[in-house]
Amino acid sequence: MDTSNGKDIQPKGGRSLVKCVVCGEIFDSSLENCPVCGVGREFFVPYEEEKVEYKKNTDEVFVILGNGAAGISAAEAIRERNGTASILMISNEAVLSYNRPMLTKALSTLEDAKEIAIHEEGWYLQNKIQNLLSTQIEGIDTEQKQVILADQTRIKYDKCIYALGAECFIPPFSGSDKPQVIAIRNMADVDKIREMKPDVKNVVVIGGGVLGLEAAWEMSKSANVTVLEVADKLMVRQLDDAAGALIGEIIQGVGISFGINAKIVEITGDEAVSGVELESGEIYPADLVIISCGVRANTGIASQAGIAVDRGVLVNEKMETSIKDIYACGDCAVYNGVNYAIWPQAIEMGRVAGANAAGDSLEYEQVPAALTFEGMNTALYAAGDNGKRQDQLYQSIEYKDEEKKLYEKYYFLKEKLVGAILIGDTSKMVAINDAIKEGTTYQEMRKR
Ligand SMILES: Cc1cc2nc3c(=O)[nH]c(=O)nc-3n(C[C@H](O)[C@H](O)[C@H](O)COP(=O)(O)OP(=O)(O)OC[C@H]3O[C@@H](n4cnc5c(N)ncnc54)[C@H](O)[C@@H]3O)c2cc1C
Repeated sequence: MDTSNGKDIQPKGGRSLVKCVVCGEIFDSSLENCPVCGVGREFFVPYEEEKVEYKKNTDEVFVILGNGAAGISAAEAIRERNGTASILMISNEAVLSYNRPMLTKALSTLEDAKEIAIHEEGWYLQNKIQNLLSTQIEGIDTEQKQVILADQTRIKYDKCIYALGAECFIPPFSGSDKPQVIAIRNMADVDKIREMKPDVKNVVVIGGGVLGLEAAWEMSKSANVTVLEVADKLMVRQLDDAAGALIGEIIQGVGISFGINAKIVEITGDEAVSGVELESGEIYPADLVIISCGVRANTGIASQAGIAVDRGVLVNEKMETSIKDIYACGDCAVYNGVNYAIWPQAIEMGRVAGANAAGDSLEYEQVPAALTFEGMNTALYAAGDNGKRQDQLYQSIEYKDEEKKLYEKYYFLKEKLVGAILIGDTSKMVAINDAIKEGTTYQEMRKR
């Protein structure tokens, strides 16, 4: 797969771009697969390159904390507006920015972060963007406008972009600190799994959300896999009961076992993991446990620096935090009470933060919550509000073919389409995405 992302193709202008409707990534139309989420051309729509009108060269120092999707997007947005300022990205990861969603999607084959790099090394030289890798950030001195590193080095900034992302949530089961218990967030986690893989026969994945299922599918290519989910269905946040049950049948059909309502009490084993024990006394054998139980925003450094936070760093529509000249974006930031912790949101928040830090005036518009899953000989798409609000009365349209494992469900509020689930055949995804955006009516959808 070509993962050069098309963004490195020069010169700018005159090139033909497409946007992936699944993850929102924008890249060169010559690519066959989306470099971020891996879907094929049928999910691309033409995209006209944004014309950046605002330009102002200065000798300011922009320091970006974190080199994930939000950090790199902010760096790009700054450089597009300011050709002379100094831009420094700091990360505790050892590698240049990469397409994080591929960590689980390519878990069985991924060997090197370069395979999924957002830009090649030359791009950073060309754009004069410096990287300080393998470097732990410890604090921000907002009075002196300095970032403090773990070795107590202080780095002066004029504008600071806080893009420290999120960490995986590890439920406090006894045994969850064993080395064979891994939550996949960084390339280093994939490296650990790859090293262990030749000796791994049984894997338990704790958490039946989309990332857990992606990891389960990839690990099932070389080991016995069981998925344990505490809720009463798989992908509880995105699917309704019928869709959750169908996904259960599909995963069992490819030889992956799963348990719902699974109350885990312990990850067993002395030195190494031997299994996962449930409240019922049942023990699932495991020599690798993958935890996929959601994420928590990295707010500690912001909060210590006196920046307003709740579940994430609080930002306004310009991605400004409560402290002047500090912007926040991506999985660590909350705008209007919302943070979906998804790629397109990090990219868009990063773009807005970087542009505004450079002096432009952009406003963030909430990206839609949508996800896809491909694997286990099926495809799945879930977007919007799939009947989850208890206080609302939804109308719905449903088509189901048990034998072919096909499912289509549309949810409406006040006659307008607000959410959809497609399983088995996701070819209507682009049209449905548009229909949700436009608020297509119940009557119109019935005619389709
Ligand atoms: C396995 C996986 C699969 C995913 N799949 C999808 C998908 O299919 N679709 C989708 O939309 N989204 C997906 N996501 C979510 C998506 O990847 C994130 O929303 C996005 O990467 C967030 O970008 P970010 O820049 O905000 O944070 P991050 O990418 O987490 O970047 C933050 C960076 O800051 C570094 N950092 C943190 N603290 C410090 C510190 N104190 N000092 C120095 N550095 C620090 C971190 O190591 C990291 O490199 C997936 C996520 C994962 C983990």
